[in-house]
Amino acid sequence: MMTDSPWGILSGIRPVKIAMKQINCGMGDDEVIDFFKTEYSVCEDKARLALDIAKVEKPIIDNMNSNGISLYVGIPFCPTRCLYCSFVTNGIFRSKTLIPQYLDCLMREIEYTAEIVKENGQIIESVYIGGGTPTTLEAFQLEMLIKKLFESFDLSHIKEFTVEAGRPDTINEDKLKVIKSFDIERISINPQSMNEETLKIIGRNHTPRQIVEAYELARKCGIKTINMDVIAGLPGETFPMFQKTINEVEALAPENTTVHTMSIKRSSRLNELLDEYDLTKGEEVAKMVDFARNTLREKGKHPYYLYRQKNMLGNLENIGYSTVGTESLYNIFIMEEVQTIVALGCGGVTKTVDRETDRIERIFNVKEPKDYIERIDEMLLRKDFLRNGR
Ligand code: SF4
Repeated sequence: MMTDSPWGILSGIRPVKIAMKQINCGMGDDEVIDFFKTEYSVCEDKARLALDIAKVEKPIIDNMNSNGISLYVGIPFCPTRCLYCSFVTNGIFRSKTLIPQYLDCLMREIEYTAEIVKENGQIIESVYIGGGTPTTLEAFQLEMLIKKLFESFDLSHIKEFTVEAGRPDTINEDKLKVIKSFDIERISINPQSMNEETLKIIGRNHTPRQIVEAYELARKCGIKTINMDVIAGLPGETFPMFQKTINEVEALAPENTTVHTMSIKRSSRLNELLDEYDLTKGEEVAKMVDFARNTLREKGKHPYYLYRQKNMLGNLENIGYSTVGTESLYNIFIMEEVQTIVALGCGGVTKTVDRETDRIERIFNVKEPKDYIERIDEMLLRKDFLRNGR
């Protein structure tokens, strides 16, 4: 079947998972590529991309502990709402006053869940504090939270601990020192764009200069692995503007760069106000994504995880790039659905993975901080599903 989409008729968000399955069935490279082309009309370039990423991920997945799990901790607060944000609730932007109560409840969920994980004898391989913007917390709150995680769970086997710092305007030396004091070596600082005008349009309260300063501060505090997220196809952005973003981000030399393609999320402000914005054409976005891939390759980075979303400009994809050996395990585990991820906090979705039967089950926490606080007892009881090693 002929189609204009580079991913053909493939509608799933995890093309690499398909490539991995074919590799595990014993298919060779050419057979995997042919499979994508004939079954889904995927173009050669994207088929090869999925295959290459599967080959990077395979040894990492094969090296997972058979009894390993990962933890996700959600901090659902942000300084302002980005234009393209898909959070359905406004609570995360308006309710900073809820943070102390929220943390109290989160501590209870941590304690409760840690007991279950201990009973199950599961081994925690990676921890990811995400959001929202976890660094919206004050340094002492961040310290309290991380300390609680270390006290409650056995984290002696973790291979990786990440704190998403997200917005540069929420990062300061005290918070970075807290992170570093727990030997956490991995953070994310997300510019999205290095163009001041675009940052204003998308509702982020910071300048490109603040991005560079936050990055330099993180290095000064000794953070070893930094990821930076950028978005191709932000409203009003042209190819030269995106080139500027990539060039300036890469001049900083983060170990990981994640290149997202703009997607129009149903519950975003952008979707409500679509007529007011100048969206980048699909071909232009494809050019941006190709430029990023070539530039990052020249910088010694390889693509190591990929996913797709609905309503992406140009029907493209999001790709995480890394220097060799700095791939984020958590991103691979969650994208390829190869390991149980226990999610704590508001909006968290725990996913249990049984690799023998290919069975995946989900436990949802509520999305609104206020509801989470009011219904914390119910959230704890939902975690009972994990008992007996599920
Ligand atoms: S930083 Fe992320 S979670 Fe926060 S408003 Fe922006 S898109 Fe939404």
